[in-house]
Amino acid sequence: MRNVQPEASHYIGGAYVEDAAGDAIDVTYAATGEQVATLHAATPAVVDRALAAAEAARRDWAALPGVERGRVLRRAADLLRERNRELSEIETIDTGKPLQETLVADAASAADALEWFGGIAATVRGEHLQLGADWAYTIREPLGVCVGIGAWNYPTQIAAWKAAPALACGNTMVFKPSEETPLCALKLAEILTEAGAPPGVFNVVQGRGDVGAALVTDPRVAKVSLTGSVPTGRKVYAAAAEGMRHVTMELGGKSPMLVFDDADIDAAVGGAILGNFYSSGQICSNGTRVFVQSGIRDAFLDRLSERLKGVVMGDPLDEAVNFGPLVSEAQLTKVLGHIRDGVAEGATLVTGGNRVDRDGWYVEPTVFADVTDDMSIARQEIFGPVASILTFEDEAEAIARANATSFGLAAGVFTADLARGHRVAAAFEAGTCWINTYNLTPVEIGFGGAKQSGIGRENGLGAIEHFSQLKTVYVGMGGVDAPY
Ligand code: NDP
Repeated sequence: MRNVQPEASHYIGGAYVEDAAGDAIDVTYAATGEQVATLHAATPAVVDRALAAAEAARRDWAALPGVERGRVLRRAADLLRERNRELSEIETIDTGKPLQETLVADAASAADALEWFGGIAATVRGEHLQLGADWAYTIREPLGVCVGIGAWNYPTQIAAWKAAPALACGNTMVFKPSEETPLCALKLAEILTEAGAPPGVFNVVQGRGDVGAALVTDPRVAKVSLTGSVPTGRKVYAAAAEGMRHVTMELGGKSPMLVFDDADIDAAVGGAILGNFYSSGQICSNGTRVFVQSGIRDAFLDRLSERLKGVVMGDPLDEAVNFGPLVSEAQLTKVLGHIRDGVAEGATLVTGGNRVDRDGWYVEPTVFADVTDDMSIARQEIFGPVASILTFEDEAEAIARANATSFGLAAGVFTADLARGHRVAAAFEAGTCWINTYNLTPVEIGFGGAKQSGIGRENGLGAIEHFSQLKTVYVGMGGVDAPY
Protein backbone atom coordinates (compact mmCIF):
# COMPACT_ATOMS: atom_id res chain seq x y z
CA MET A 1 0.00 0.00 0.00
CA ARG A 2 1.17 3.51 -0.74
CA ASN A 3 2.63 5.58 2.08
CA VAL A 4 -0.03 7.98 3.32
CA GLN A 5 1.75 9.23 6.44
CA PRO A 6 1.56 13.03 6.04
CA GLU A 7 4.57 15.25 6.64
CA ALA A 8 2.92 16.39 9.88
CA SER A 9 -0.49 16.38 11.55
CA HIS A 10 -1.62 19.95 11.03
CA TYR A 11 -1.38 22.54 8.29
CA ILE A 12 -1.13 26.12 9.54
CA GLY A 13 -0.02 29.34 7.91
CA GLY A 14 0.83 27.62 4.62
CA ALA A 15 3.02 24.86 6.10
CA TYR A 16 2.89 21.56 7.93
CA VAL A 17 3.08 21.80 11.73
CA GLU A 18 3.65 19.04 14.27
CA ASP A 19 3.22 18.92 18.02
CA ALA A 20 3.83 15.38 19.21
CA ALA A 21 2.48 16.32 22.64
CA GLY A 22 -1.04 15.89 21.23
CA ASP A 23 -2.86 12.55 21.71
CA ALA A 24 -2.11 10.01 19.01
CA ILE A 25 -4.68 9.54 16.23
CA ASP A 26 -4.17 6.21 14.49
CA VAL A 27 -5.40 5.99 10.92
CA THR A 28 -6.48 2.51 9.93
CA TYR A 29 -7.40 1.07 6.56
CA ALA A 30 -10.97 -0.10 7.04
CA ALA A 31 -10.55 -2.99 4.60
CA THR A 32 -7.91 -4.69 6.73
CA GLY A 33 -7.68 -2.91 10.07
CA GLU A 34 -4.04 -2.20 9.24
CA GLN A 35 -2.60 0.98 10.71
CA VAL A 36 -1.45 3.24 7.86
CA ALA A 37 -0.55 6.51 9.59
CA THR A 38 -0.32 8.13 13.00
CA LEU A 39 -1.15 11.75 13.62
CA HIS A 40 -1.51 13.87 16.72
CA ALA A 41 -4.51 15.78 18.00
CA ALA A 42 -4.00 19.52 18.25
CA THR A 43 -2.83 20.80 21.61
CA PRO A 44 -4.27 24.13 22.82
CA ALA A 45 -1.08 25.76 21.47
CA VAL A 46 -1.74 24.34 18.00
CA VAL A 47 -5.39 25.45 18.07
CA ASP A 48 -4.26 28.93 19.06
CA ARG A 49 -1.64 29.01 16.33
CA ALA A 50 -4.16 28.02 13.66
CA LEU A 51 -6.70 30.62 14.74
CA ALA A 52 -3.96 33.27 14.95
CA ALA A 53 -2.87 32.41 11.39
CA ALA A 54 -6.43 32.65 10.10
CA GLU A 55 -6.96 35.92 11.97
CA ALA A 56 -3.71 37.39 10.64
CA ALA A 57 -4.58 36.47 7.05
CA ARG A 58 -8.20 37.56 6.92
CA ARG A 59 -7.94 41.29 6.22
CA ASP A 60 -5.54 41.02 3.28
CA TRP A 61 -7.46 38.09 1.81
CA ALA A 62 -10.75 39.98 2.12
CA ALA A 63 -9.18 43.06 0.54
CA LEU A 64 -8.24 41.20 -2.65
CA PRO A 65 -10.57 41.67 -5.59
CA GLY A 66 -12.96 38.73 -5.83
CA VAL A 67 -11.57 37.85 -9.23
CA GLU A 68 -8.14 37.25 -7.68
CA ARG A 69 -9.52 35.08 -4.90
CA GLY A 70 -11.52 33.21 -7.50
CA ARG A 71 -8.40 32.60 -9.59
CA VAL A 72 -6.74 30.86 -6.63
CA LEU A 73 -9.77 28.62 -6.14
CA ARG A 74 -9.96 27.77 -9.83
CA ARG A 75 -6.25 26.90 -9.91
CA ALA A 76 -6.82 24.64 -6.92
CA ALA A 77 -9.68 22.97 -8.81
CA ASP A 78 -7.34 22.26 -11.72
CA LEU A 79 -4.71 20.77 -9.39
CA LEU A 80 -7.33 18.54 -7.73
CA ARG A 81 -8.38 17.23 -11.13
CA GLU A 82 -4.78 16.67 -12.26
CA ARG A 83 -4.12 14.65 -9.09
CA ASN A 84 -7.47 12.93 -8.97
CA ARG A 85 -6.04 9.42 -8.86
CA GLU A 86 -3.57 10.11 -6.06
CA LEU A 87 -6.22 11.97 -4.05
CA SER A 88 -8.81 9.27 -4.67
CA GLU A 89 -6.44 6.61 -3.37
CA ILE A 90 -5.88 8.62 -0.21
CA GLU A 91 -9.65 9.09 0.18
CA THR A 92 -10.10 5.33 -0.21
CA ILE A 93 -7.42 4.53 2.36
CA ASP A 94 -8.81 7.17 4.75
CA THR A 95 -12.46 6.05 4.50
CA GLY A 96 -12.52 2.53 3.03
CA LYS A 97 -14.82 3.66 0.19
CA PRO A 98 -14.13 1.87 -3.12
CA LEU A 99 -11.71 3.56 -5.49
CA GLN A 100 -14.36 3.02 -8.15
CA GLU A 101 -16.44 5.58 -6.22
CA THR A 102 -13.74 7.95 -5.03
CA LEU A 103 -12.32 8.38 -8.55
CA VAL A 104 -15.57 10.08 -9.57
CA ALA A 105 -17.14 11.42 -6.38
CA ASP A 106 -14.66 13.05 -4.02
CA ALA A 107 -11.76 15.13 -5.35
CA ALA A 108 -13.96 15.62 -8.42
CA SER A 109 -16.77 17.09 -6.35
CA ALA A 110 -14.28 19.23 -4.41
CA ALA A 111 -12.90 20.52 -7.70
CA ASP A 112 -16.39 21.37 -8.90
CA ALA A 113 -17.02 23.39 -5.73
CA LEU A 114 -13.73 25.29 -5.99
CA GLU A 115 -14.27 25.98 -9.68
CA TRP A 116 -17.86 27.13 -9.25
CA PHE A 117 -17.31 29.34 -6.21
CA GLY A 118 -14.07 30.57 -7.79
CA GLY A 119 -16.13 31.60 -10.78
CA ILE A 120 -18.67 33.57 -8.77
CA ALA A 121 -16.21 35.16 -6.31
CA ALA A 122 -16.01 38.22 -8.56
CA THR A 123 -19.79 38.60 -8.64
CA VAL A 124 -20.38 38.86 -4.88
CA ARG A 125 -21.85 42.32 -4.45
CA GLY A 126 -24.32 44.56 -2.66
CA GLU A 127 -26.93 46.90 -4.09
CA HIS A 128 -27.74 50.57 -4.54
CA LEU A 129 -30.99 51.98 -3.13
CA GLN A 130 -32.18 55.46 -4.09
CA LEU A 131 -34.04 57.20 -1.21
CA GLY A 132 -35.15 60.46 -2.77
CA ALA A 133 -32.09 62.69 -2.74
CA ASP A 134 -30.39 60.49 -0.19
CA TRP A 135 -29.32 57.00 -1.05
CA ALA A 136 -27.92 53.87 0.48
CA TYR A 137 -25.81 51.01 -0.61
CA THR A 138 -25.03 47.58 0.77
CA ILE A 139 -21.71 45.82 0.91
CA ARG A 140 -21.61 42.03 1.10
CA GLU A 141 -18.73 41.50 3.51
CA PRO A 142 -16.96 38.36 4.66
CA LEU A 143 -17.62 37.23 8.23
CA GLY A 144 -13.98 36.73 9.22
CA VAL A 145 -12.45 33.56 10.63
CA CYS A 146 -14.68 30.56 9.94
CA VAL A 147 -14.39 27.13 11.53
CA GLY A 148 -15.27 24.02 9.53
CA ILE A 149 -15.81 20.69 11.29
CA GLY A 150 -16.23 17.57 9.21
CA ALA A 151 -17.77 14.10 9.42
CA TRP A 152 -15.81 11.07 8.20
CA ASN A 153 -17.79 9.92 5.21
CA TYR A 154 -16.69 12.48 2.58
CA PRO A 155 -13.56 14.11 4.01
CA THR A 156 -12.35 15.81 0.82
CA GLN A 157 -15.76 16.92 -0.33
CA ILE A 158 -16.84 18.24 3.08
CA ALA A 159 -13.65 20.29 3.46
CA ALA A 160 -14.04 21.76 -0.03
CA TRP A 161 -17.78 22.40 0.20
CA LYS A 162 -17.01 24.57 3.24
CA ALA A 163 -13.74 26.13 2.10
CA ALA A 164 -14.84 27.09 -1.42
CA PRO A 165 -17.71 29.46 -0.54
CA ALA A 166 -15.95 30.68 2.61
CA LEU A 167 -12.78 31.65 0.74
CA ALA A 168 -14.67 33.00 -2.28
CA CYS A 169 -16.40 35.48 0.05
CA GLY A 170 -13.08 36.57 1.58
CA ASN A 171 -13.16 34.61 4.83
CA THR A 172 -10.35 32.48 6.19
CA MET A 173 -10.88 29.02 7.66
CA VAL A 174 -9.64 26.59 10.26
CA PHE A 175 -10.91 23.12 9.38
CA LYS A 176 -11.02 20.15 11.74
CA PRO A 177 -11.58 16.83 10.00
CA SER A 178 -13.12 13.89 11.79
CA GLU A 179 -10.49 12.03 13.74
CA GLU A 180 -11.48 8.92 11.71
CA THR A 181 -10.38 10.50 8.43
CA PRO A 182 -7.68 13.10 9.03
CA LEU A 183 -5.69 12.78 5.79
CA CYS A 184 -7.70 14.31 2.95
CA ALA A 185 -8.15 17.88 4.22
CA LEU A 186 -4.37 18.18 4.54
CA LYS A 187 -4.08 17.53 0.81
CA LEU A 188 -6.63 20.23 0.09
CA ALA A 189 -4.62 22.66 2.24
CA GLU A 190 -1.41 21.80 0.36
CA ILE A 191 -3.13 22.32 -2.98
CA LEU A 192 -4.66 25.65 -1.98
CA THR A 193 -1.19 26.89 -1.00
CA GLU A 194 0.23 25.67 -4.30
CA ALA A 195 -2.62 27.44 -6.11
CA GLY A 196 -1.63 30.73 -4.49
CA ALA A 197 -3.71 30.98 -1.32
CA PRO A 198 -1.73 33.16 1.10
CA PRO A 199 -0.53 31.53 4.35
CA GLY A 200 -3.30 31.27 6.95
CA VAL A 201 -6.21 31.40 4.51
CA PHE A 202 -7.00 27.69 4.92
CA ASN A 203 -5.65 25.77 7.92
CA VAL A 204 -6.23 22.23 9.15
CA VAL A 205 -6.00 21.03 12.73
CA GLN A 206 -6.60 17.46 13.85
CA GLY A 207 -8.45 16.31 16.89
CA ARG A 208 -11.54 14.90 18.48
CA GLY A 209 -14.62 16.68 19.78
CA ASP A 210 -12.65 18.65 22.40
CA VAL A 211 -10.58 20.31 19.67
CA GLY A 212 -13.78 21.09 17.76
CA ALA A 213 -15.29 22.57 20.93
CA ALA A 214 -12.19 24.73 21.54
CA LEU A 215 -12.46 26.12 18.02
CA VAL A 216 -16.17 26.83 18.26
CA THR A 217 -15.88 28.88 21.44
CA ASP A 218 -12.85 30.97 20.52
CA PRO A 219 -13.63 34.71 20.41
CA ARG A 220 -11.77 35.10 17.10
CA VAL A 221 -14.29 32.86 15.35
CA ALA A 222 -17.21 34.45 13.47
CA LYS A 223 -18.86 31.37 11.95
CA VAL A 224 -19.03 27.62 12.42
CA SER A 225 -20.01 25.17 9.72
CA LEU A 226 -20.48 21.61 10.97
CA THR A 227 -21.19 18.40 9.13
CA GLY A 228 -22.07 15.76 11.69
CA SER A 229 -24.83 14.10 13.65
CA VAL A 230 -27.83 15.82 15.20
CA PRO A 231 -26.58 15.40 18.82
CA THR A 232 -23.22 16.98 17.93
CA GLY A 233 -25.07 19.68 15.99
CA ARG A 234 -27.09 20.61 19.05
CA LYS A 235 -23.93 20.97 21.15
CA VAL A 236 -22.04 22.96 18.53
CA TYR A 237 -25.02 25.22 17.75
CA ALA A 238 -25.46 25.98 21.46
CA ALA A 239 -21.76 26.69 21.94
CA ALA A 240 -21.73 28.96 18.88
CA ALA A 241 -24.78 30.81 20.18
CA GLU A 242 -22.84 31.90 23.28
CA GLY A 243 -20.70 34.07 21.04
CA MET A 244 -23.59 34.95 18.65
CA ARG A 245 -21.69 33.20 15.87
CA HIS A 246 -23.17 32.36 12.50
CA VAL A 247 -23.73 28.66 11.90
CA THR A 248 -24.35 26.18 9.14
CA MET A 249 -25.42 22.76 10.41
CA GLU A 250 -25.37 19.85 7.96
CA LEU A 251 -26.71 17.04 10.11
CA GLY A 252 -28.14 13.57 9.89
CA GLY A 253 -31.30 12.20 8.34
CA LYS A 254 -33.72 9.32 7.93
CA SER A 255 -34.95 10.32 4.54
CA PRO A 256 -37.98 8.84 2.77
CA MET A 257 -38.09 7.59 -0.80
CA LEU A 258 -41.59 7.08 -2.22
CA VAL A 259 -42.06 4.61 -5.07
CA PHE A 260 -45.49 4.77 -6.72
CA ASP A 261 -46.87 1.85 -8.73
CA ASP A 262 -46.52 3.74 -12.02
CA ALA A 263 -42.78 4.30 -11.48
CA ASP A 264 -40.08 2.85 -13.70
CA ILE A 265 -39.13 0.04 -11.33
CA ASP A 266 -35.55 -0.21 -12.53
CA ALA A 267 -35.02 3.52 -12.01
CA ALA A 268 -36.57 3.30 -8.55
CA VAL A 269 -34.46 0.27 -7.64
CA GLY A 270 -31.42 2.16 -8.95
CA GLY A 271 -32.38 5.08 -6.71
CA ALA A 272 -32.77 2.76 -3.73
CA ILE A 273 -29.33 1.27 -4.42
CA LEU A 274 -27.68 4.69 -4.68
CA GLY A 275 -29.60 5.90 -1.65
CA ASN A 276 -28.82 2.92 0.59
CA PHE A 277 -25.67 1.13 -0.48
CA TYR A 278 -23.34 3.61 -2.20
CA SER A 279 -20.43 4.34 0.19
CA SER A 280 -21.74 1.32 2.13
CA GLY A 281 -24.69 3.42 3.19
CA GLN A 282 -22.62 6.07 4.96
CA ILE A 283 -24.36 9.05 3.35
CA CYS A 284 -26.38 11.57 5.32
CA SER A 285 -29.05 12.10 2.67
CA ASN A 286 -29.72 8.40 2.09
CA GLY A 287 -33.30 7.37 1.44
CA THR A 288 -33.33 4.68 4.08
CA ARG A 289 -37.11 4.53 4.43
CA VAL A 290 -38.21 3.17 1.07
CA PHE A 291 -42.01 3.41 0.87
CA VAL A 292 -43.24 1.19 -1.96
CA GLN A 293 -46.87 1.22 -3.10
CA SER A 294 -48.31 -2.14 -2.11
CA GLY A 295 -49.15 -3.39 -5.63
CA ILE A 296 -45.49 -3.37 -6.72
CA ARG A 297 -43.91 -4.45 -3.44
CA ASP A 298 -43.00 -7.96 -4.56
CA ALA A 299 -41.71 -6.86 -7.97
CA PHE A 300 -39.64 -4.14 -6.33
CA LEU A 301 -38.12 -6.52 -3.78
CA ASP A 302 -37.37 -9.15 -6.42
CA ARG A 303 -35.62 -6.61 -8.64
CA LEU A 304 -33.68 -5.10 -5.72
CA SER A 305 -32.48 -8.53 -4.55
CA GLU A 306 -31.53 -9.42 -8.11
CA ARG A 307 -29.52 -6.23 -8.62
CA LEU A 308 -27.73 -6.61 -5.28
CA LYS A 309 -26.14 -9.75 -6.74
CA GLY A 310 -24.02 -7.25 -8.68
CA VAL A 311 -22.24 -6.20 -5.48
CA VAL A 312 -18.51 -6.85 -5.73
CA MET A 313 -16.85 -6.83 -2.30
CA GLY A 314 -13.13 -6.81 -1.85
CA ASP A 315 -10.16 -4.52 -1.43
CA PRO A 316 -11.54 -1.02 -2.10
CA LEU A 317 -8.29 -0.12 -3.90
CA ASP A 318 -9.20 -2.70 -6.56
CA GLU A 319 -11.20 -0.76 -9.13
CA ALA A 320 -13.43 -3.77 -9.83
CA VAL A 321 -14.76 -3.57 -6.25
CA ASN A 322 -17.97 -1.58 -5.83
CA PHE A 323 -18.77 -2.19 -2.17
CA GLY A 324 -16.37 -1.45 0.67
CA PRO A 325 -16.23 -1.76 4.44
CA LEU A 326 -17.62 0.64 7.02
CA VAL A 327 -15.25 3.31 8.22
CA SER A 328 -14.42 1.81 11.62
CA GLU A 329 -14.98 -1.07 13.97
CA ALA A 330 -17.15 1.19 16.14
CA GLN A 331 -19.41 1.90 13.16
CA LEU A 332 -19.55 -1.82 12.34
CA THR A 333 -20.69 -2.60 15.88
CA LYS A 334 -23.31 0.13 15.75
CA VAL A 335 -24.73 -1.01 12.40
CA LEU A 336 -24.86 -4.68 13.45
CA GLY A 337 -26.73 -3.57 16.57
CA HIS A 338 -29.37 -1.82 14.44
CA ILE A 339 -29.70 -4.94 12.28
CA ARG A 340 -30.26 -7.09 15.38
CA ASP A 341 -32.93 -4.61 16.53
CA GLY A 342 -34.67 -4.89 13.15
CA VAL A 343 -34.81 -8.68 13.42
CA ALA A 344 -35.96 -8.53 17.05
CA GLU A 345 -38.73 -6.07 16.16
CA GLY A 346 -40.11 -8.47 13.55
CA ALA A 347 -39.00 -6.98 10.24
CA THR A 348 -38.42 -9.53 7.46
CA LEU A 349 -34.77 -9.88 6.57
CA VAL A 350 -34.83 -10.20 2.76
CA THR A 351 -31.09 -10.26 2.21
CA GLY A 352 -27.83 -9.63 4.08
CA GLY A 353 -27.81 -8.94 7.78
CA ASN A 354 -24.36 -10.22 8.67
CA ARG A 355 -20.81 -9.15 9.11
CA VAL A 356 -18.79 -10.43 6.19
CA ASP A 357 -16.34 -13.19 7.03
CA ARG A 358 -13.12 -11.44 6.05
CA ASP A 359 -10.72 -8.89 7.49
CA GLY A 360 -11.98 -5.35 7.81
CA TRP A 361 -15.34 -3.88 8.77
CA TYR A 362 -17.66 -5.18 6.09
CA VAL A 363 -21.41 -5.60 6.53
CA GLU A 364 -23.50 -7.28 3.83
CA PRO A 365 -25.92 -5.07 1.95
CA THR A 366 -29.03 -5.59 4.03
CA VAL A 367 -32.69 -5.25 3.05
CA PHE A 368 -35.55 -5.44 5.52
CA ALA A 369 -39.16 -5.73 4.29
CA ASP A 370 -42.43 -5.43 6.22
CA VAL A 371 -40.94 -2.60 8.21
CA THR A 372 -43.43 -0.50 10.16
CA ASP A 373 -43.10 3.16 11.08
CA ASP A 374 -42.58 2.50 14.78
CA MET A 375 -39.61 0.11 14.39
CA SER A 376 -36.26 1.54 15.42
CA ILE A 377 -34.76 0.75 11.99
CA ALA A 378 -37.39 3.07 10.49
CA ARG A 379 -36.71 5.85 12.97
CA GLN A 380 -32.99 5.95 13.69
CA GLU A 381 -30.20 6.93 11.37
CA ILE A 382 -28.15 3.75 10.85
CA PHE A 383 -25.37 5.09 8.57
CA GLY A 384 -24.65 1.68 7.11
CA PRO A 385 -25.86 -0.51 4.23
CA VAL A 386 -29.35 -1.17 5.59
CA ALA A 387 -32.54 -0.40 3.62
CA SER A 388 -35.97 -0.56 5.20
CA ILE A 389 -38.85 -1.28 2.82
CA LEU A 390 -42.28 -0.14 3.95
CA THR A 391 -45.51 -0.31 1.95
CA PHE A 392 -48.26 2.25 1.46
CA GLU A 393 -51.64 2.45 -0.26
CA ASP A 394 -52.17 6.05 -1.34
CA GLU A 395 -50.42 9.37 -1.80
CA ALA A 396 -51.80 11.22 1.21
CA GLU A 397 -50.86 8.38 3.53
CA ALA A 398 -47.36 8.11 2.03
CA ILE A 399 -46.70 11.84 2.44
CA ALA A 400 -47.94 11.89 6.03
CA ARG A 401 -45.76 8.92 6.96
CA ALA A 402 -42.75 10.24 5.05
CA ASN A 403 -42.94 13.49 7.02
CA ALA A 404 -43.54 11.85 10.40
CA THR A 405 -39.94 12.24 11.55
CA SER A 406 -37.95 14.92 13.28
CA PHE A 407 -35.35 14.72 10.50
CA GLY A 408 -35.76 16.67 7.27
CA LEU A 409 -32.58 16.35 5.26
CA ALA A 410 -33.75 14.86 1.97
CA ALA A 411 -36.60 13.00 0.25
CA GLY A 412 -37.30 11.40 -3.10
CA VAL A 413 -40.27 10.31 -5.20
CA PHE A 414 -40.42 7.93 -8.15
CA THR A 415 -43.50 8.20 -10.35
CA ALA A 416 -44.43 8.47 -14.03
CA ASP A 417 -47.04 11.11 -13.14
CA LEU A 418 -45.12 14.38 -13.19
CA ALA A 419 -47.92 16.38 -11.59
CA ARG A 420 -47.80 13.95 -8.69
CA GLY A 421 -44.01 14.16 -8.58
CA HIS A 422 -44.11 17.92 -8.10
CA ARG A 423 -47.06 17.73 -5.70
CA VAL A 424 -45.22 15.24 -3.51
CA ALA A 425 -41.95 17.22 -3.65
CA ALA A 426 -43.88 20.32 -2.53
CA ALA A 427 -45.37 18.39 0.39
CA PHE A 428 -42.08 16.89 1.61
CA GLU A 429 -40.69 18.48 4.77
CA ALA A 430 -37.09 18.21 3.63
CA GLY A 431 -34.33 20.50 2.43
CA THR A 432 -33.32 18.58 -0.69
CA CYS A 433 -35.79 16.57 -2.80
CA TRP A 434 -35.44 14.47 -5.92
CA ILE A 435 -38.01 13.41 -8.49
CA ASN A 436 -37.16 10.20 -10.38
CA THR A 437 -33.55 10.17 -9.20
CA TYR A 438 -31.76 10.15 -5.88
CA ASN A 439 -28.69 11.57 -4.11
CA LEU A 440 -27.44 13.79 -6.92
CA THR A 441 -25.85 16.88 -5.36
CA PRO A 442 -24.08 19.02 -7.96
CA VAL A 443 -22.50 22.23 -6.66
CA GLU A 444 -24.94 24.44 -8.55
CA ILE A 445 -27.87 23.49 -6.29
CA GLY A 446 -28.21 24.15 -2.59
CA PHE A 447 -27.93 21.24 -0.17
CA GLY A 448 -29.04 21.12 3.44
CA GLY A 449 -31.67 20.10 5.90
CA ALA A 450 -35.01 21.17 7.30
CA LYS A 451 -36.25 20.41 10.86
CA GLN A 452 -33.59 18.72 13.02
CA SER A 453 -31.38 17.99 10.01
CA GLY A 454 -29.86 21.41 9.93
CA ILE A 455 -29.66 25.11 9.40
CA GLY A 456 -28.27 26.90 6.38
CA ARG A 457 -27.33 25.56 2.97
CA GLU A 458 -24.15 24.40 1.32
CA ASN A 459 -23.52 24.85 -2.39
CA GLY A 460 -25.48 27.04 -4.79
CA LEU A 461 -25.79 30.79 -4.41
CA GLY A 462 -27.34 30.32 -0.97
CA ALA A 463 -23.94 29.33 0.43
CA ILE A 464 -22.64 32.82 -0.37
CA GLU A 465 -25.27 34.29 1.95
CA HIS A 466 -24.21 31.91 4.71
CA PHE A 467 -20.55 32.97 4.47
CA SER A 468 -21.09 36.74 4.26
CA GLN A 469 -23.09 39.52 5.85
CA LEU A 470 -24.62 42.70 4.54
CA LYS A 471 -23.42 46.08 5.67
CA THR A 472 -25.76 48.97 4.92
CA VAL A 473 -24.40 52.46 4.29
CA TYR A 474 -26.86 55.39 4.29
CA VAL A 475 -25.59 58.45 2.45
CA GLY A 476 -27.10 61.82 3.45
CA MET A 477 -26.93 64.29 0.54
CA GLY A 478 -28.35 67.38 2.34
CA GLY A 479 -28.34 68.95 5.80
CA VAL A 480 -29.37 67.14 8.97
CA ASP A 481 -32.89 68.01 10.19
CA ALA A 482 -32.65 67.65 14.04
CA PRO A 483 -35.56 68.58 16.41
CA TYR A 484 -33.41 70.81 18.64
P1 NDP B 1 -20.25 13.39 14.68
O1 NDP B 1 -21.42 14.26 14.94
O2 NDP B 1 -19.90 12.36 15.65
O3 NDP B 1 -18.95 14.29 14.47
C1 NDP B 1 -18.89 15.33 13.51
C2 NDP B 1 -17.64 16.18 13.78
O4 NDP B 1 -17.84 16.96 14.96
C3 NDP B 1 -16.39 15.36 14.03
O5 NDP B 1 -15.29 16.04 13.44
C4 NDP B 1 -16.32 15.34 15.52
O6 NDP B 1 -15.02 15.06 16.00
C5 NDP B 1 -16.76 16.74 15.86
N1 NDP B 1 -17.26 16.94 17.22
C6 NDP B 1 -17.77 16.03 18.08
N2 NDP B 1 -18.16 16.63 19.23
C7 NDP B 1 -17.92 17.95 19.09
C8 NDP B 1 -18.12 19.10 19.93
N3 NDP B 1 -18.67 19.02 21.14
N4 NDP B 1 -17.74 20.31 19.46
C9 NDP B 1 -17.22 20.44 18.22
N5 NDP B 1 -16.98 19.39 17.39
C10 NDP B 1 -17.34 18.16 17.81
O7 NDP B 1 -20.54 12.77 13.24
P2 NDP B 1 -19.76 11.60 12.48
O8 NDP B 1 -18.36 12.02 12.21
O9 NDP B 1 -20.03 10.33 13.20
O10 NDP B 1 -20.52 11.60 11.08
C11 NDP B 1 -21.72 10.97 10.87
C12 NDP B 1 -22.88 11.95 10.99
O11 NDP B 1 -22.66 13.05 10.12
C13 NDP B 1 -24.20 11.34 10.58
O12 NDP B 1 -25.20 11.74 11.47
C14 NDP B 1 -24.44 11.95 9.22
O13 NDP B 1 -25.79 12.00 8.87
C15 NDP B 1 -23.85 13.29 9.36
N6 NDP B 1 -23.52 13.83 8.05
C16 NDP B 1 -24.27 14.88 7.55
C17 NDP B 1 -24.05 15.36 6.29
C18 NDP B 1 -24.82 16.53 5.75
O14 NDP B 1 -24.32 17.18 4.84
N7 NDP B 1 -25.99 16.84 6.25
C19 NDP B 1 -23.03 14.75 5.42
C20 NDP B 1 -22.27 13.72 6.05
C21 NDP B 1 -22.54 13.25 7.32
P3 NDP B 1 -14.52 13.52 16.15
O15 NDP B 1 -15.51 12.63 15.49
O16 NDP B 1 -13.20 13.53 15.50
O17 NDP B 1 -14.51 13.27 17.61
